[in-house]
Amino acid sequence: MSKKKNQSPVTSQTIGEGRVIRNTGSSYIVRLDNGEELQCRIKGNFRIKGIRTTNPVAVGDIVTVAKASDDADYITAISPRTNYIIRRASNLSKESHILASNLDLAILVATLREPVTTTTFIDRFLATAEAYSVSAALVLNKEDMWDDDDRELADALKNLYTSIGYPVFFVSAATGIGLKPLKEFISNKITLLVGNSGVGKSSLINALVPGTELRTGEISDIHHTGTHTTTFSEMIDLPEGGAVIDIPGVRGFGTIDFAPEEVGHFFPEIFRTSRDCRYSDCKHTGEPGCAVIPAVEEHYISESRYASYLSILEEASEEAGADKYRKPF
Ligand code: GDP
Ligand code: ZN
Repeated sequence: MSKKKNQSPVTSQTIGEGRVIRNTGSSYIVRLDNGEELQCRIKGNFRIKGIRTTNPVAVGDIVTVAKASDDADYITAISPRTNYIIRRASNLSKESHILASNLDLAILVATLREPVTTTTFIDRFLATAEAYSVSAALVLNKEDMWDDDDRELADALKNLYTSIGYPVFFVSAATGIGLKPLKEFISNKITLLVGNSGVGKSSLINALVPGTELRTGEISDIHHTGTHTTTFSEMIDLPEGGAVIDIPGVRGFGTIDFAPEEVGHFFPEIFRTSRDCRYSDCKHTGEPGCAVIPAVEEHYISESRYASYLSILEEASEEAGADKYRKPF
């Protein structure tokens, strides 16, 4: 990341440091350490080396703000990011969009039904979080709707994911069930919230941060007219300290460009087991001496996780122009 400044004739005076809490497209809202919020433009070159981004500055960034002699406020420098999540601006685009940076946690809000969140989707989210070095957790929402079968499934998912190392919370944004442990878990953290449309992400934010009523339910008129409103991330403070970052939609989340040989690194239990594979470049698709496939057969590694691994591997291999991998059993 370059911090080179533009050769601008405008002289500027540093105001201080703050965190970018909103991206409105043409400008950024920065909250200074003293709580003051400034609308800033960018001055300087903030490109990440080797990546073309549509937004050089992201929600979550710690930035230096200066006032120029034309009386506008500018972001003049970005502190090094501890991590960041990017997605391609569109499927065919070579440009990427930085969704958020400096995250302590990423949470996927999922539901067992209405709508169904598939384990493939969950695993794609988790692998993406691993790839970006962000801790991840799962929230299963709409617990109030579960029957006995749902509860059994929820318990199985909780066992599976906690055994790999991902905390799982059962909640109902509607009734408030289960919110207390979740609140405790996310307090004083900067948490990215991800979820397919309809899982209740907006309802959950409302439950966590009373007073953000505007976001639930149907898309409002404002959203129809202002395209920016629905496409940019926003940071929302939690009453207990910390904040959640809401990114509109999850299109593209989980489409990180994995290299085929990397995919196994982002499934912690597969990665651990792969140390016992005969070949260090084993892709666990039937190679001699593979330790992963027997571990799946003996249920040390879940079949659904392995299936997700294969689906991501297949996609990565297609992108890399390699042969398709087939499930060996
Ligand atoms: P979003 O698209 O993820 O932001 O979802 P919304 O928050 O708009 O919720 C989608 C629908 O699910 C709405 O009809 C909500 O009332 C409903 N909903 C959200 N949370 C719950 C919950 O915990 N239980 C039940 N039964 N319905 C919920
Ligand atoms: Zn192997």
